[in-house]
Amino acid sequence: CAACGACVQACPARHSIQNGQHIYDRAGCNGCGTCAEACLFGALELAGYEMTIGEVMDTVRRDAPFYRGVGGLTITGGEPTLQADFATALAAAARAEGISVCVETCGYCPEHALLTLAAYTDLFLFDIKETDAARHKAYTGVDPALIIANLRALDAAGQATMLRCPIIPGFNDRLEHMEGIANIANTLSHARGIELMPYHPLGQGKAERFGLTPNKSLPEHAMPRKDVEALLTYLQTRTDVPVKVG
Ligand code: SF4
Ligand code: SF4
Repeated sequence: CAACGACVQACPARHSIQNGQHIYDRAGCNGCGTCAEACLFGALELAGYEMTIGEVMDTVRRDAPFYRGVGGLTITGGEPTLQADFATALAAAARAEGISVCVETCGYCPEHALLTLAAYTDLFLFDIKETDAARHKAYTGVDPALIIANLRALDAAGQATMLRCPIIPGFNDRLEHMEGIANIANTLSHARGIELMPYHPLGQGKAERFGLTPNKSLPEHAMPRKDVEALLTYLQTRTDVPVKVG
């Protein structure tokens, strides 16, 4: 930021220059983006904007030559089921044009939202963050019972899933958790695979950009490769579902 003050002129209610420093007050910001347009130094960025189904599909169609029969539309977030009606309409529109649809979800949502979406979805990328219920509650704030019930409901409906498992050193990089993941995968009929997703610290910088306080309890560095390999190797001995590192 060059402290030029252009954003202050664009939106004096939210921006100010104090002691030569740019101050941004997020409270009450309606996300119109006028200040970001006024900033010639690229210091402000509008993250997220509203689109219609037609506008999203225009973008999806532009990428169609790259799909080559294996790619398609991935609806992710945030959490797509928080906008379940939009996500379902978008998936239906893509399917109607023969574009395959993948949905990434944390699974913590009403069952009907997932099952409705499933009618137009080829694959769910389904988060499994922690298989110990007490730890899951402590780390995420919610009980995992609904998440697991939703995963089983999708499986019972014949829906293909890929279990996506973020691994964070000091939190869930335990063999018992790998055992828990295997136990879940082994009871599913349509699990296509398990993807271990080792921690990296890039999210910390992203949190700062959104005005959030970075979580100091998280590691500063990416997870060492040898630690990832050890968990991968163990998990592969506990299940026949294909496991890979994402
Ligand atoms: S954020 Fe951009 S427009 Fe605002 S003071 Fe800094 S450089 Fe100028
Ligand atoms: S996005 Fe709009 S409301 Fe928010 S700070 Fe910028 S100009 Fe003001």
